[in-house]
Amino acid sequence: MKIAVDLHIHSALSPCADDDMTPNNIVNMAVLKGLDAIAVTDHNSCDNVEAVVKAAGKRILVLPGMEVQSREDVHLLCYFDSLDALYKFDGYIKEYMDGAGNVSEIFGNQYIMDEYDRITGEREDMLLSSIDLSVEQIVKLTVDNGGVVVPAHVDRPSYSIISQLGFVPSSLNIRVLEYSHKNEYIVSKMQDYQRIISSDAHTLGDILEREMFLDIDDVSLTAIIQWLTCPCVI
Ligand SMILES: [Zn+2]
Ligand SMILES: [Zn+2]
Repeated sequence: MKIAVDLHIHSALSPCADDDMTPNNIVNMAVLKGLDAIAVTDHNSCDNVEAVVKAAGKRILVLPGMEVQSREDVHLLCYFDSLDALYKFDGYIKEYMDGAGNVSEIFGNQYIMDEYDRITGEREDMLLSSIDLSVEQIVKLTVDNGGVVVPAHVDRPSYSIISQLGFVPSSLNIRVLEYSHKNEYIVSKMQDYQRIISSDAHTLGDILEREMFLDIDDVSLTAIIQWLTCPCVI
């Protein structure tokens, strides 16, 4: 079956995202747009993912994830099939952050929320920064925790694996690349990879319509992780 997805959305935890990217607003907008599955992937943190999962209930599938910024300034989407695995991964990521403080007046707020959109805290360390792990180390850490990595927005001139490294190292065993939009030049260059399009939404209106579909056997987190690990259609 084909399910409509948007696997790259930021919540109000990301300093660059709107404060109204609350768990319920994100879920309600995704449901309104007819999506079947979403992922909230904040920068270097998963503090709002559980609230989104709870806010979603059975209305829409929420894939646990995070957008990690490597030492080389590469953005990597790290997905897991359970909150437990994501939290374990998050514990490692915290160890490799530089601890510099956020200046919310300049960079934006980093709100932690519950499933009722109540602000329960605020991350004081700057989340939008590189952690002290390489791309290779982040991929290994993700896979060791049962997850899968999708390099983010490879068609952008900054913070992408192509802009920073110039290529996708074959040793990473990456099978899927994320694009912001259709870019024929890069698509033809990168034909060995499956392509996924996501919104990287920082505002509610930017969340995708029904335009990116995954062909999977059943609507489950495991099936989505399997597709991202080894899509059958290349
Ligand atoms: Zn990014
Ligand atoms: Zn992003």
